[in-house]
Amino acid sequence: MLVREGRKMRLVQESIEQLEFDKVKADKFVESQLRATITNAIERTTYYSRLELNKCKVDSYVGFLEKFPLMDKSTYLSRGELFMNNFYRGVIVQGSSSGTTGVPLVVPQTLQSVIRESAFVWRQLKWAGYKQGDRRAWIRGDMVVPLQAKKPPYWRRSFLENMMLFSSFHIEEKTIGLYIKAMTDFGTNIIQAYPSSIVAIAKYLRQRKTLYPGKIKAIITSSETLSFWDRKLLEDVFQCPVFDWYGLFERVAAIGTCEFGRYHQLTDYSHVEFHESNDGMHEIIGTNFNNDLFSLLRYKTNDYVELSKDKCPCGRHYPVVNSIVGRSRDYLITESGKKLTMVSQLYKNIAGIYSAQFIQESIRKVDVLIVVDVNTYTDFSRLLLVSNLKRKLGENISVVVSIVDSIPRTSNGKIKHAICTVEEF
Ligand SMILES: [Zn+2]
Repeated sequence: MLVREGRKMRLVQESIEQLEFDKVKADKFVESQLRATITNAIERTTYYSRLELNKCKVDSYVGFLEKFPLMDKSTYLSRGELFMNNFYRGVIVQGSSSGTTGVPLVVPQTLQSVIRESAFVWRQLKWAGYKQGDRRAWIRGDMVVPLQAKKPPYWRRSFLENMMLFSSFHIEEKTIGLYIKAMTDFGTNIIQAYPSSIVAIAKYLRQRKTLYPGKIKAIITSSETLSFWDRKLLEDVFQCPVFDWYGLFERVAAIGTCEFGRYHQLTDYSHVEFHESNDGMHEIIGTNFNNDLFSLLRYKTNDYVELSKDKCPCGRHYPVVNSIVGRSRDYLITESGKKLTMVSQLYKNIAGIYSAQFIQESIRKVDVLIVVDVNTYTDFSRLLLVSNLKRKLGENISVVVSIVDSIPRTSNGKIKHAICTVEEF
């Protein structure tokens, strides 16, 4: 933590802040980053040195990159050693994707990679209005207190970082009031949270027809898909703007939110190509700039966005993205084989349903786990949910609804709205 927030990180942050409004400078920077990334891959990894790409004539590195093959996760899982830098002798930071579904991918990183990541996150914090001395509430799946803990506090203060870390795992109807009190007592200015964690708190307040009692400058969400309605709910209940951040562990793409509420794909973070799919959405294919140790070039993320042609009034040159349409497996498969994303639509207006998880293990059946408010949930709510599902997925799909106390969380404390293990066809 000390390293991440140290002087080196501040220097990187200052240097990338100079690229926000200067497109010429940013383009030059991207070209030099790509040159370094590609050269590193060709000269130091087994996989790319075998491709003999060094014989190509290079006009621009953006163009050159298109000669490289597209990669998917399975290639790195089965042949990861071929993408390692064979000459690197520095510090290695190990880490892996969360593996909420499927096998986690392990990507070793350089210390520089960790520092640069942090600089981009801090630049986003600055866009959200962060000022030195601001107090942050952090609700992002950290193991703050033991899982078995049955009594508060479910939070812990970090004096060094001037923030209060809250457990995502202990957020329940009966503890949320305590969370809200702890957040306000601390004098929280900025909230950094998983959408599922902070939305649960917002729903609790909405249910009681009250607003968050403190004054919040901004909420920064990331790591799960934030729906349009949940974003609106957060803005209403906390009376502040929401800054959603898209990133992934492989660090081949980042999308931030500016003070006008628009998503921007950060061209100085990585090189991204958007490949159109048959439903008009675009898949994010990313090339990592910041990790000399492991080459991730033209990586198919399996995450999709809806592009926009708009220019944002903020004046930054980064392309605008309308929405981020679901993470890889946050979808269900319809009878006709299409993907249904944004599954939270299926229950957003139904009385008494707090949250839901859809589990589809076969094309014919969906299990739905729901957390309900016993005072407002009725048989009609359940019928409405089933009918919504059948309308969207197909009449022949059988739907089994079960009421649970809470939606199971992944080992990272996240909540997946949909778990689909049906093979695509
Ligand atoms: Zn903007």
